[in-house]
Amino acid sequence: MAKVKTVFVCNECGYESAKWLGKCPSCNSWSTFVEEKVVKSTDSKSAPIRNVTPTLLKDVEKKETTRMKTNFEELDRVLGGGFVTGSLVLLRWRARNTENLL
Ligand SMILES: [Zn+2]
Repeated sequence: MAKVKTVFVCNECGYESAKWLGKCPSCNSWSTFVEEKVVKSTDSKSAPIRNVTPTLLKDVEKKETTRMKTNFEELDRVLGGGFVTGSLVLLRWRARNTENLL
């Protein structure tokens, strides 16, 4: 036998609570709790079952992705070789001396 239980989980740190909380007591984030259904076996010794299948790190398939170089050496390094097709990267340019750019 299994019964469905509702828990509220913090999006930021994964903290679980039986009731919705405005502020996470673990990471102090606001409005990060989302409702999550947990199928719980009535056998108190078994752990809650979730629709998650763990994958061993060695079994994770490595996919080659096409990358577009930005020609900014440091940015390409941070991006792992350049932009990935279909990805979105938010950049913030902060110039130290704007006179040299104009
Ligand atoms: Zn949290």
